[in-house]
Amino acid sequence: MTASVQPSGTRIWDRCEALARCSEEPGALTRVFLSKEQRAANELTLGWMREAGMSARLDPIGNVVGRYEGGVAGAPCLMLGSHLDTVRNAGKYDGMLGVVAAIDCVHTLHARGTRLPFAIEVVGFADEEGVRFGATLLGSRAIAGTFDAKLLDSRDAVGTSMREALTAFGLDPDCTGKAARRRADVLAYAELHIEQGPVLEAEGLPVGVVTAINGANRFAIEIEGLAGHAGTVPMPLRRDALAAAAECVLAIESRCGREPDLVGTVGRIEAAPGATNVIPGNARFTIDLRAPQDEQRRRAAADIQAAIAAICARRKVKVDIRQTHEGKTAACAPWLQDQIGRAIEAEGLPVRRLSSGAGHDGMAIIDLVDIGMLFVRCADGISHNPLEAITPEDAELSARVFLRFIEHFKPAV
Ligand SMILES: [Zn+2]
Repeated sequence: MTASVQPSGTRIWDRCEALARCSEEPGALTRVFLSKEQRAANELTLGWMREAGMSARLDPIGNVVGRYEGGVAGAPCLMLGSHLDTVRNAGKYDGMLGVVAAIDCVHTLHARGTRLPFAIEVVGFADEEGVRFGATLLGSRAIAGTFDAKLLDSRDAVGTSMREALTAFGLDPDCTGKAARRRADVLAYAELHIEQGPVLEAEGLPVGVVTAINGANRFAIEIEGLAGHAGTVPMPLRRDALAAAAECVLAIESRCGREPDLVGTVGRIEAAPGATNVIPGNARFTIDLRAPQDEQRRRAAADIQAAIAAICARRKVKVDIRQTHEGKTAACAPWLQDQIGRAIEAEGLPVRRLSSGAGHDGMAIIDLVDIGMLFVRCADGISHNPLEAITPEDAELSARVFLRFIEHFKPAV
């Protein structure tokens, strides 16, 4: 066979459709960690891996792992992959596209009869979204050796513990540590994923190189003012908690709007007592803050906390600011960015570098090896939504780029 055999956009498309049918809700896509739908998706994926010339197995946390040996059996691998779980009422491509496209690349190598100087492993991570147990990246953390065994006692919405769910799935909860991989066996990790944002589409580009998976802070804010009669308390004498919160929301928007790549969102706000004729005495809201550089994000977080404190002091309301999450930026290795960039150029496309505002499995795998990512354009930047869409042409083109990257991959020295 010759190099004219290429990944197939149609096959990738059909397989995304097949995975989308493994859902707990008819007419919508929801597939969570250790569910029977996940078992069905795993079976499909294991079959495709074997058809592509790989040996394939389920690892101790439920990740699907396929291996295509290099010229010499047992060589260290280039690890590829993405996740097979979804959010509730998900799109068909977030996660799945990366697994299916990576399998198609190996399928192509196998059809050409090509072996590379290294092995390739494709992983379909069992849990990235964290829908069932509230903790994210379970599959990739297990592989990186950073899975927290305390999570085995966490329970899902109906009271089933992760330990029980693993047992019911046919896995041994005391063996999750065995999913961890040795650093010496993995050369690097690369993931193809839809952008989940509007940048590539706006610039008319099918693919882009990811520079970093943005770090994030989350805060829960509570403002305590004084509830009062909406008719009798004059404006200057009010201590309106919601008006204070509103000023804080605008301060966050203005601070984040001053720097490119920095984003801040107040996604939830509540006021109490919540009556038309009562001045709100209490307001609570959340902040989600993300940036490609940790230093930039921490500066913004400090400025925003200072601004909130100043607003609340001036308005004579009490404020409590609680950080609920901090995740560091996971930078994509420059040497992998360069190799992915060269593969894009070789397909005659401009190399657009962009950071990822969404989290990905690479955030966990970076504790094991260097990571790289290739983004694929999606329609209107919509994701975590049934309207998530790509084209078969982009699926094929991105898989060609990914295959070119794989074929020319040179480990870091
Ligand atoms: Zn994803």
